[in-house]
Amino acid sequence: MMKRQRRARILATLGPSSSTRERIRALVDAGADVFRLNFSHGSHPDHAERLRLIREVEQEVGRPLGVLMDLQGPKLRVGRIAGGKVVLEAGQPFRLDLDPADGDVRRAGLPHPEIFAALEAGTELLLDDGKLRLRVDRYGADFADTTVLVGGPLSDRKGVNVPGVVLPISPLTAKDRADLAFGLELGVDWVALSFVQRPEDIDEARALVGDQAWIMAKLEKPSAIEYLDAIVARADGVMVARGDLGVELPPQQVPVLQRRIVRAARAAGRPVVVATQMLESMITAPVPTRAEASDVATAVYEGADAVMLSAESASGQYPVEAVTIMDRIIAEVEADPAWRDELEAGHTPAAATTPDAVCCALRRVATLLEPAATVAFTSSGFSGLRASRERPAAPILALTPRLATARRLALAWGVHPVPFDEVHDIGEMIAHATAAAVREGVAAAGDTVVVIAGIPFGEPGSTNLLHIARVPAGE
Ligand code: PGA
Ligand code: MN
Repeated sequence: MMKRQRRARILATLGPSSSTRERIRALVDAGADVFRLNFSHGSHPDHAERLRLIREVEQEVGRPLGVLMDLQGPKLRVGRIAGGKVVLEAGQPFRLDLDPADGDVRRAGLPHPEIFAALEAGTELLLDDGKLRLRVDRYGADFADTTVLVGGPLSDRKGVNVPGVVLPISPLTAKDRADLAFGLELGVDWVALSFVQRPEDIDEARALVGDQAWIMAKLEKPSAIEYLDAIVARADGVMVARGDLGVELPPQQVPVLQRRIVRAARAAGRPVVVATQMLESMITAPVPTRAEASDVATAVYEGADAVMLSAESASGQYPVEAVTIMDRIIAEVEADPAWRDELEAGHTPAAATTPDAVCCALRRVATLLEPAATVAFTSSGFSGLRASRERPAAPILALTPRLATARRLALAWGVHPVPFDEVHDIGEMIAHATAAAVREGVAAAGDTVVVIAGIPFGEPGSTNLLHIARVPAGE
């Protein structure tokens, strides 16, 4: 059995189209590595059931699967509209206020006092994913008088984006806090925070999450881009959340920011996910557009850790086909010699630390000796991520005594997480490393395997040893 060689990972959102055990199994067989539970939709029992099914499938396939819970975050919305909908015309005045009464063609409720507090004359408000655009002329603590710049239909509870403004709000609403407690209790591996604005937002979440999960910052606000390096440093991973990012900023900036975010995350050694509309047309069609195939490929050439499916796998008609196509596009790119060149071009020097020095050596050895595999012993997952940061030319088996670590690492570029017992001495370590490489289908007798670990064993972040082993005959 040859384990999959693919380095980039696939993150698939579960939803109504993908919530039976058979479907989840089919997604895993097609190539899904991590599943997203989107808490903007679905009830707690829905998500609990999905997580239960993922764990069942994980048992079946014998490979750790990651689960990412995605919190809705402070998504701002207008209130209800009388009759459900009005049509706004460009040039007309329109008022937003705190009045809970149904809206009409002259006004609508906007039940977020913190928005009014942060407004300035000239601020633009975007409604319904940016389809409508309002300019603030006058405002007070409980109202804003605006001019409609771009009109169109406005219906109940449509989203509101305020691109240029850092809102004085927590990234965690009351709903998010309740969802988070529920998700942590279920045992999710990653928590994604929506609409992160500042580095401190990560700390606020960390205080609640502790070590129960890794935290992913969704980059979808201009202010998050402004603090990019600090946010990347404080989070465990990041997502290029192109959906809202492309509303908050002009669409032509999205590809440029994607590239910048991927580079910043790779430099810091934080897993980075490229998300939203990757295979959008596959919501209703069994094949992608050429532009979509090209988009997935671009993310892989850039060296992103994972590419994500949203509605394509959650509510579309072809969830398994979408994962299958993603898998094929990644495989095709990774077979292109130019892919390696581009990965190298995006590489940045390691930090001046012992673990990074070892991982740097791992990278060099992988290029020089072309080993069948590299093996990283990792307990917290730190060494697994530092090895992944180097983007070595051989697969990385991450042997870890903690199942939680294995599941978290399922998102990391090139890492095959393998739950494993503690090892106690170097001889045992080497024997287990080569045996695991054979068992995982990445090495055979006579092959070279490069092992990194920390002595004493079991101390997080202590990686200080590199050993080059040969798989003994008979394994
Ligand atoms: P969402 O996040 O799907 O939760 O909005 C992703 C994005 O905005 O791209
Ligand atoms: Mn979003």
